[in-house]
Parts: sequence; C-alpha cells; structure tokens
Amino acid sequence: MTFYFTGIRSFPKLWKSNSYLGLSSSNFYLSLFLKDCYGIRNQEKWFSVKTMSAQNTKAMNLLIAKARCFRKLDEGSNKQVSADSSHMFAAGAAKKRSQVNSSSKAPVLPPVKNIIQLPTKPLNSEEWDKLKEEFKEKANFENWIILQMVKSHSSLDVAKSVLAWVATKNNGIVGYDLLVKYLYLCVFHKQTSEIIDVYEIMKARYKRLESGAYTLLMRGLMYTDRWREALLLLEDLKKVMIPSKKNYDDCIQGALFHQDVNVAWNLYQELLSHDIVPMLETLKAFFDFGKDMKDDQYSNKLHNILLYLRNNQLYPGESFAHSIKTWFESIPGEQWKGQFITIQQSGQCLGCGKTVESIHLSSQEYEFLKEKIMRDVIDGGDQYKKTTPQELKRFQNFVKYRPPFDVVVDGLNVAKMFPKARESQVLLNVVSHLAKQNLQVLVLGRKHMLTQNSRWRRVEMEKMQKQASFFFADNISEDDPFLLYATLHSGNHCKFITKDLMRDHKACLPDAKTQRLFFKWQQGHQLAIVSKHPGAKITFQRILSYDTVVQTTGDSWHIPYDDDLVERYSYEVPTKWLCLHRKT
Ligand SMILES: [Zn+2]
Repeated sequence: MTFYFTGIRSFPKLWKSNSYLGLSSSNFYLSLFLKDCYGIRNQEKWFSVKTMSAQNTKAMNLLIAKARCFRKLDEGSNKQVSADSSHMFAAGAAKKRSQVNSSSKAPVLPPVKNIIQLPTKPLNSEEWDKLKEEFKEKANFENWIILQMVKSHSSLDVAKSVLAWVATKNNGIVGYDLLVKYLYLCVFHKQTSEIIDVYEIMKARYKRLESGAYTLLMRGLMYTDRWREALLLLEDLKKVMIPSKKNYDDCIQGALFHQDVNVAWNLYQELLSHDIVPMLETLKAFFDFGKDMKDDQYSNKLHNILLYLRNNQLYPGESFAHSIKTWFESIPGEQWKGQFITIQQSGQCLGCGKTVESIHLSSQEYEFLKEKIMRDVIDGGDQYKKTTPQELKRFQNFVKYRPPFDVVVDGLNVAKMFPKARESQVLLNVVSHLAKQNLQVLVLGRKHMLTQNSRWRRVEMEKMQKQASFFFADNISEDDPFLLYATLHSGNHCKFITKDLMRDHKACLPDAKTQRLFFKWQQGHQLAIVSKHPGAKITFQRILSYDTVVQTTGDSWHIPYDDDLVERYSYEVPTKWLCLHRKT
C-alpha cells in the first residue's frame, strides 16, 4: 500500500481545546525502534532521538532562576539561593560542595552549528534538490534533515514540504522513519487533524508499530474525540511489552481530561501492579481533578497516593505541593488549612506547632534494619570481594569481646580529610577530641598505618591507641561493612564517622522499606566533620532530629517537597514543607 501525500490535509488546524495538558517541549524522549521501510532490505535498527529531558528543563529553569538570584545578590542582598543546607543531607548541599570544587573549570563552549541552515519556510522540490546537492552524505539527506527538524521543532509546513518532495520522487511513498518523525512534530505542535491523518495512514499501512510510534499516537490522540482509540493502542502495546510510565501518564491524564475517572484509576492500579513508579505529574493530575469534590472514596485514594510517596521516599515538586494544598483546602465542609513552612531544628512545625516524626528508629525498626543489613550487606553481600571470611570472623570476635562503642571512626577516610596534612596527626586530633568526651571509640584502620613513615608516625599512633580501640584490617579490605557491623552491633545510640555516603550498600538492600529505614538510620547516625583546616577545633555537621518523610496524624499532614530553585541530589532531603491541618 502506498502513502499519497495529498492524503494529509495541507494546513494545520488548531487543537480543539486550549487546556491541553500533555506534551510539552521539555519532557519528550523519542526512542524509536525504526524499520527501514523502503522495501529493499527490511533491516531493523535502534535509534534514539533525545530532545531536552525533564531533568534538563529543570536544570535550565534552575539556571534562569539562579541567574535571577545571582543578580539579586549583586544588588546587595545577602539572601541564599537555597534554604537551610547546613546538614549533610540537606537539598542543595552537594551542589554547593561541587560548585566550590569546580569554580576554576573552563567555561563550556557552545556546540558547533550545522553546516546546512534549516529552512524556515516550505521549499519546493527544486529547492530541496539543490539543498541535497550541498550535503555530503547524500544517501542520508532526507533522514538527516527531518531529524534536525525534530531537534529544532521546525514548523509543520516546512516538514511537510520535505515529505511532499520525498513522495514525488518515490511514487507517492513516504517511508516509516520520515512518517514517525513527522508525527513527532505534529504531536509537539498539538495539531489534532494532522495526527489523525498520520494515524489513519499508519493504521492502514502497518499491522503493528514499534513503541515510539505507539507512544506518539497515544499522546496525540488522547486529547481528541478519538481518545478511546488511544486506549486500544495501549492494549496493542501491552501485547509486546510493559508500557512505560509516560505511556500510562498520557492515558491517565487523557482519561481525566475526558472526565472518565474510572478508566484513570484502573490504569493507575495497573501501572502499580507492574511495579512501575508513576510520574509525579500523574499523581498531581489526580489531585487537580479532585478539587472541590466531596467524595470519600476519591479522598481515600488520594490519601493512599500520599502514603505511596511516604513509603517510596518520594517528594512532590513545588507545583504538585500547591495542587495538594489546593485540594485539601477545597474539600467541602472539612476546613483544612495549608501553609508552606520550614521545620525548626527541634522538629517542631512552625505552622501548626506539632512535632514531626523523629529521625530515631523505634527499637522494632532498628532490629528489623540490623537484621537485614547483617544478612544482605555483611553476610550475604559482595564484601568478600574486598575482604575474606576469615578476616570478617576475626573482626566479629574482636567486637564481641568489647563493650558497646559510642562512635565508630572510618580511620583512613578521616585521616585523608586534609590532603596536605600528616594523616596520623589529623586522626589523632579527631580521636583525642572524642576521647575527651568520655566516649567509647572504635577506629577502623589498615595494617599499613602501623608502618612508621612520613604520613604515619609511630608516636602518634601509640597515643591514639591509648584513647580508643583499634582494629587493623588487611590493606586490601573495604571498610564500610566493618563500619556498619560495628555500629549496628553496638546499638541504636552508636554513631559513625565517615564522608562515604554508602550508596552501594543501600542499593544491596532488598526493598523500598528497608532502603528507607537504612537512609533514615544513616541520617540519624552518620557524623561528618566540617572543620576547615587541620589545626581547627573539631566540629561536626548537625544531625537532623526529625525524619524528612510524608506523614500524617489524621487531622494533620506534613509533606516535604522540592523547591524549584534547589537542585537536590538523590541522597539529599528537601528542606521545605507543606503543613496541612484541620481546624477542629
Ligand atoms: Zn504543621
């Protein structure tokens, strides 16, 4: 079957609705499994076009916002870009650390421009022929030019003139590659009638499409009168693969747009059943939809979404937090009041005066976590690659016959804190500081520390050994499993000192609950030294007294959320909160 170009209506029409919720220029990944449909060889190839991702947009918004902030700073204000970032896990703290380290790097140069300038208005066949002549890899020209158009979001009429030119040369046939890329532009520019036309052509011509085309068609059709056909496409896609969270997002948002709330919830349940973490936009859409609604069942489902955030340690962004607030305040007859606040060091909410959940683990949580770490990280983990069972046994015996420790120190990590200072001297300062407070200290070291040299002085090592217990592991051993073992074995009061963030170990843990507990435990037990130079008084970064997680008491909710202006690393926690409480 052939594709006649005249089949596509010549001029794009505007979308029927202005309140289109879906595709934005920013969050689109087009990852296409394209077939060569020119007929000679039916070769398949993977190929991916990546336009600006959500992350990148966020980064871009951040840049713009930061530029504004820095301008303000220049104007004499002393305000900081991020809120409180005085503890190690505060959102933005890592970014700040990296900025300090990278300030001397050379500026990034803008990318080199393409040799051929993309046309800004439609060309006729002769003009396209001429442009192709100027292009080196002539065989690839059509694909190359349409790809550039996708990347720069060219207007539809220009893209269409490429298709018209190709069609004239090929008896009216336009190949799959070009068609899908044209479809991308139609969806990007939200041109309903064009999308439907391409959809009709593809439906007639191909029995099955690849996931990239399904994704585009679903997204494009969802906001038309033929949106239920998008759901049929989802069914088709499910026959070959599990749809992506973006596919579900498109369909759920489309169903809500067309007021079919049952379809939306069913798709949401289906998504969760595949263990897919939904997009925050999907969750936000349910809150937006529920505004002003008095429906207990619907409310319960939204509460479950909030608990899902809690259990998976997810944080809404600023606009999602606003949607949550708006929804609560809109529930008829319930009198909720929301405020955006920060939490005091003591854990007290400045909005309602309640104290948020403590960072300290209950004894039940502690025993649960201890058992998991002992089993999955220490006994069953991959630590044997870095140490031997004999060495681990030796260490376990060592710990067994000593009183519980108050602090466990990663000796090598601490000693290397100041690259220019003598390692044994740095470590001695820290150990003496702790010993003066009558703390039972364990220092984990390596055997090489006992060999006198310019970095490790015997006299300093001897002084330390009088003030603390030492365990010297083989030089090849990794310290983390020993550190975790000794700290957990000593009990819930015991802290540990290292700059290591233990992300590898968190990854070894089997499920979201254990990972969450581990992170909670880590935040409450890890001490980091913030002293600026070797001789300075030893000071530690503040440990948060409260847990940064979505929580409720029934008549209140506290929801940490991500500030749009702060770039948070995955192991950091937000510093901004939404406090919701009900007047009773
Ligand atoms: Zn509060």
